[in-house]
Amino acid sequence: MNEELKKISVDRYTWYNAPRNVKVTPLRFFYPKNQEDIAKIIQYAEGQNRPLRVRAVGSGHSYSEAAVGKDCLLNMKQMDKAWKTPKEKLHTKHVDKDLVTTQAGMVLKKLIRALDKMDLGMPNLGVIDFQTISGALMTGTHGTGISKPAIPDMVRAIRLVGNEGKFYQIEPSDGISDPAKHDQQKHGELIQNDDQFYSAVLSFGAMGIVYELILEVLPQYWLKEKRYLMKWSELEAQLKDGRFMEKVRKVDFVSCRVNPYEVKGDHRCTILEQEILPKVYKGWAARRRSNLTAILGNFEFLIESTIQKMNQLRKAKNIGKTLNLSMWASQIFGYEGKSQQVLLDSSVSIARYGISSEFAFNADPHKIVEVITSIFDLAKENAEKGDLYQSSHIPIRFVPATKVYLSSAYKRDTVYIDVPLLYGTKADLEILQRYQKMMVDELGAIPHWGKHNKRLYLRQDVIQNHFEKIDTWMEVRAERDKKGTFLNDFIVQLGLAKEPQQMKKSSPNV
Ligand SMILES: Cc1cc2nc3c(=O)[nH]c(=O)nc-3n(C[C@H](O)[C@H](O)[C@H](O)COP(=O)(O)OP(=O)(O)OC[C@H]3O[C@@H](n4cnc5c(N)ncnc54)[C@H](O)[C@@H]3O)c2cc1C
Repeated sequence: MNEELKKISVDRYTWYNAPRNVKVTPLRFFYPKNQEDIAKIIQYAEGQNRPLRVRAVGSGHSYSEAAVGKDCLLNMKQMDKAWKTPKEKLHTKHVDKDLVTTQAGMVLKKLIRALDKMDLGMPNLGVIDFQTISGALMTGTHGTGISKPAIPDMVRAIRLVGNEGKFYQIEPSDGISDPAKHDQQKHGELIQNDDQFYSAVLSFGAMGIVYELILEVLPQYWLKEKRYLMKWSELEAQLKDGRFMEKVRKVDFVSCRVNPYEVKGDHRCTILEQEILPKVYKGWAARRRSNLTAILGNFEFLIESTIQKMNQLRKAKNIGKTLNLSMWASQIFGYEGKSQQVLLDSSVSIARYGISSEFAFNADPHKIVEVITSIFDLAKENAEKGDLYQSSHIPIRFVPATKVYLSSAYKRDTVYIDVPLLYGTKADLEILQRYQKMMVDELGAIPHWGKHNKRLYLRQDVIQNHFEKIDTWMEVRAERDKKGTFLNDFIVQLGLAKEPQQMKKSSPNV
């Protein structure tokens, strides 16, 4: 390895994901500063007698093994700038859009701040802002809102470094760039093709190392939020008679939280509604509003740590009551704030720490009822037979249909049902695996790529049968990565690609 690459790398470095359920010590851990560094790393890796693999990590906030790379692992965090996308190179029909170019390693928190300075806001956010933009993209990170895009649906162009260190810019067929004005020298070949784009945009780093993205964002906006309690019997009735889905379609951002435990004959639920305000606040008014959530947010945090302690102290039987208290404390009426304040402050703060599995279903209200009542049954069974407890409420979120090939929301409005557990929850992984078995095998769920989803290693058939465009995705992947440089065990174990050895054995033409 040359001195230049030595200077931006270390060996014997053990990388852990943030929840610390996944770790790896790669041959070499790199800190690239720009796309040229990435290109040199790929050339070095592919140039070895036994070629090495190259993988990138973001903030390590995936509970799955998506980011693991055993040869050359790249920490992207030094590539953390964002700027307004210059209009000159755009096709005339796209010049009016609010486009921002962001480097791949930009953490969402920093990106949101940079956007705010430009008077821009993200169209949607998940519950935390610790992820990098490329990491969040690569596993299909989403928030809630049946008409509000998940991260992959905000992307208009993806720039990556592929085999031999070549640069590519990939866009949909009707892409934002004017091919006649594309800077090939700087950004390599421009590919405007739906199959390529909708495959690459959610690909776990298996089609190359992303170095920049162009996102379509919004002029900064304000939201008003209310969070109120409802009994499950009432929510169930509203789901069955269509009233709840009407609300989900009418209100900008809607989500629910359900207590998996019955207390006094019913399960408590919290409903969150956030609506875009037709006005923006400036100066003192803006500051005053943000103080309110800080206080309420802290209150919920205290309850969160109480639940955690109870779980450790074998007093977990009371967890249903404590969850009820936490939900009661998190009620909010008429809180107003800038987009990111409301979207993040209202997050499922109870799920900030710990581990979770999340499951996608068609956004059919009857399915929601079936899944939630099955969760009640399993939570009860775990408690009665094993004295094991679910340490958080169950969040329910809504995501619009998308064209992204490996999104679990491909071509269907989707509901995501999450099973988060706090750190220290007794038998956390076993509880999650019991949920995964029930959800995947019995209820037809598609697990979130970035959440704990090991059950899928045993159920490749679920992936093969569910994703209509899986063959196209695999063809595009093979074309983008002819050398197998960007593979890892996660992708192979999911059945999304074959090891080159397997490919040779099974197909004499490869
Ligand atoms: C507390 C918590 C809350 C969460 N909340 C939500 C939520 O609300 N909604 C939701 O959908 N998900 C949520 N997640 C899951 C999380 O958003 C995703 O798993 C996301 O992928 C993590 O981003 P990251 O930057 O940490 O990426 P990592 O986990 O480090 O990597 C994710 C994938 O991206 C690839 N990758 C990263 N950078 C690059 C690059 N530059 N080029 C190519 N490939 C790259 C990695 O190889 C890996 O395959 C949550 C996770 C945690 C821990």
